[in-house]
Amino acid sequence: MASKTKIQIDGMITVGSLAEKLSIPVTGLITELMKNGIMATVNEKIDFETAQIIVEELGLDVELLRSAENEDEIIKISSHELTGKAKPRPPVVAVMGHVDHGKTSLLDAIRSTDVAKKEAGGITQHISAYQIKHNDRLITFLDTPGHEAFAAIRQHGAALTDIAIIVVAADDGVKPQTIEAIRYAKKAGVKIIVAINKIDKEGADSNRIKQQLSEHGLMIEEWGGDTVIQEVSAKTKKGIPELLDLVFLVTDIEDLKADYDVPAYGLVIESHVETGRGSIARALVEGGVIRKGDYICAGSSYAKIRNLEDSEGRPLKEAGPSTPVIISGFKTLPEFGDEFNFCKDEKEAKNMAEKSLQNKSSSDSRMDISSSDLIRLINRNNKLSELNVIIKADVQGSLISVMDSLKSLDTDEVAIRFVGSGIGQINENDLHLAHSSNAIIYGFNVSSPRSVIQQASRDKINIRLFDIIYEMLDDAKKELSDLLTPEVVEKEIGKLTIKGIFNTTKTQVICGGEVTTGKVVLPSLVRVIRDKKVLAEAILHNLKRSNNDVKEVNAGEMCGIDLKTKSKIDLVEGDKLEFFSRELVQRKL
Ligand code: GDP
Repeated sequence: MASKTKIQIDGMITVGSLAEKLSIPVTGLITELMKNGIMATVNEKIDFETAQIIVEELGLDVELLRSAENEDEIIKISSHELTGKAKPRPPVVAVMGHVDHGKTSLLDAIRSTDVAKKEAGGITQHISAYQIKHNDRLITFLDTPGHEAFAAIRQHGAALTDIAIIVVAADDGVKPQTIEAIRYAKKAGVKIIVAINKIDKEGADSNRIKQQLSEHGLMIEEWGGDTVIQEVSAKTKKGIPELLDLVFLVTDIEDLKADYDVPAYGLVIESHVETGRGSIARALVEGGVIRKGDYICAGSSYAKIRNLEDSEGRPLKEAGPSTPVIISGFKTLPEFGDEFNFCKDEKEAKNMAEKSLQNKSSSDSRMDISSSDLIRLINRNNKLSELNVIIKADVQGSLISVMDSLKSLDTDEVAIRFVGSGIGQINENDLHLAHSSNAIIYGFNVSSPRSVIQQASRDKINIRLFDIIYEMLDDAKKELSDLLTPEVVEKEIGKLTIKGIFNTTKTQVICGGEVTTGKVVLPSLVRVIRDKKVLAEAILHNLKRSNNDVKEVNAGEMCGIDLKTKSKIDLVEGDKLEFFSRELVQRKL
């Protein structure tokens, strides 16, 4: 039998976060809680024991574990210890920050300062890691889709990132995702460099940002702290070389090193299947040097490396520490977060993969959830849900305006993430990308060949074609709305005055009364009111009129009532009951 998924929760957890952790709809959880006599809204907390009971009642294949104190502060560091022969290696840098503060623009600006890099024509693919050269030294960038993947990678036990560049827009200031980014970086023990961006803009106020940063525990250097700051403009490229210099300064202070002559190891950061090429993984080498033709094992998959490429798809013979690579030759698809290790031959690779598969099914590890689940969870916990889209348009001008208009739909909770864009017909490459990134393909003023449409429908990939921009925006808006967490809406049904109490236990009250307004409907939620104050909440469990079970009793009629309660309620004659329903309503943008 497969082992249960283990999920850690703190002593108390909100209904909303528990639903997220369990990957079930909040509605389902609230209903189950109600069945157990527990009234709780999305934001109310329930205790560990209650959560455990509910999980059992729902029959989920999940074991809840109580977090130890400060458990989430603990970061598992890779088990590879450095030897005395370790040598300097390029730093691994992630750019994080609030939406629209300029992460993408900054990365673009950094890439374009490296003239050696030329974007491959056509679709600009979302690259998860790449290297640039500045003053003849390499920097590895993890182009994370927000800090979710960063956190996910960290959760997988690898302190992969050395330096976080936290981008703050000078005209906007420290925002929720900035604070989260700071928190993540601090927890992961990652060095922080703050890039105050958009200094070219009117209203840019670096001093205000520095003040705000210090309020969030980042003391900047010029004020005696140890946080380094660089003012930049991704637009004019001012300050970018200085920012990269700072990255090296931190690298040297931190003395970042790796072993080069040990069996290679690293981490899979993305994987997908490509027609004609099979299972492909993007990975980051952490230690040792991998070579084309080597055997490696990654999680429960293994490969004889058929092609070893750099992040832009150029062939490599070998790759050392901090190098992002594309590896083909895997027998099955390795997973995001899998560690890869060099194996001396096929037998060893196969054995290790099999062992890992067995471990996986009997594993005691608490991270026994798939990476996509993990990313989804983290996404939702961060309150920013992203809609992955690929945009194809007829001409550059319309492509830009479509992307700009779509971006304007972003809110603090939901955002569009462009995983790819390009000019021309929708083609097979777009389908692969859509498949691997779970994206919708929007085509503006373009078509796609019948064969592509057919393949898309086989692979269940969404292609939406528009020639009116507002219709496309409406469609995207609907998709984004679906990502919003639903809102709880209460509806009053009726009121009743208690005329007699027949039996009271810890979890039940049987009483009778007269319906004064509206009606009493089974099932519903109940508030007990005394002297205009809410005494308790309960669930209407059973309803009787003249000793017959009924579903509804109208105003003016008497009825018998069976209430399920959370704790003992001592009702008295004259108490009022208010009957209501609680519904989850999907919000709209
Ligand atoms: P992200 O959501 O953090 O990736 O932000 P983007 O890179 O998409 O930038 C959001 C918006 O700010 C875009 O319209 C950019 O053109 C604009 N932007 C980014 N950096 C700068 C900058 O340095 N100066 C100005 N004036 N605008 C910028």
